[in-house]
Amino acid sequence: MRLIFIGPPGVGKGTQAKLVKEYFGIVHLSTGDILREEISQVSPLGIKAKSYIDKGHLVPDNELLNIMSKRLNKEDAKKGYLLDGYPRTIPQAEGLDNFLDKMNHNINAVVSIELDDESIIKRLSSRRSCEGCGNITNLLFNPPKIEGTCDNCNGRLLQRSDDGKKVIIERLVVYNKQTAPLLKYYYKKELIMRIDGSGNIDNVLQLILKALRELCCV
Ligand code: AMP
Repeated sequence: MRLIFIGPPGVGKGTQAKLVKEYFGIVHLSTGDILREEISQVSPLGIKAKSYIDKGHLVPDNELLNIMSKRLNKEDAKKGYLLDGYPRTIPQAEGLDNFLDKMNHNINAVVSIELDDESIIKRLSSRRSCEGCGNITNLLFNPPKIEGTCDNCNGRLLQRSDDGKKVIIERLVVYNKQTAPLLKYYYKKELIMRIDGSGNIDNVLQLILKALRELCCV
């Protein structure tokens, strides 16, 4: 099975992607996580990516096409994958289509998770991630037992450098301009599944699984 998750920043794509990947036993490929790993290794790509990410801008398409074509060729992606945060532009979607054509593969569904801007800003400004285990928590919906400390590993909870209000607003502008056109692109291919992202984690998961069951893959 091959799935794409699309949605504005903070809509819960990453959280849902992790749950859906476990349900189907496929790899979860998050380009945001891949880029953050490059940043933590201070690699040349990481240094370049940080300057875009910190401003709320997208990293250039050629960098993404490059990393993803290598990543999708790895053995663990042969059984299927869930793409979280990729593609994010029309050139990336076209690059992915070329890759899929070469492999004689297809995408089963594009899950579009939707939420209004006001809720997104509220969710993202209260999101924290653990510097130890990477666990993501939200101060509004599931606050940690001890303030500033991860419930899983006691690591420090930090705010992502791109989760400040000014950068969140820029990320939403970038989403509407560069990523939202993908909805039309995949709608024409009859792949879009629209999901209301306003419920809690389990409600949204059930909506996604129900839609996948009805439309294509379970
Ligand atoms: P995310 O964790 O998915 O919210 O991604 C964090 C940031 O990484 C984004 O705001 C972009 O700056 C960058 N990024 C992630 N995926 C892509 C992509 N497919 N194309 C360009 N930039 C990306």
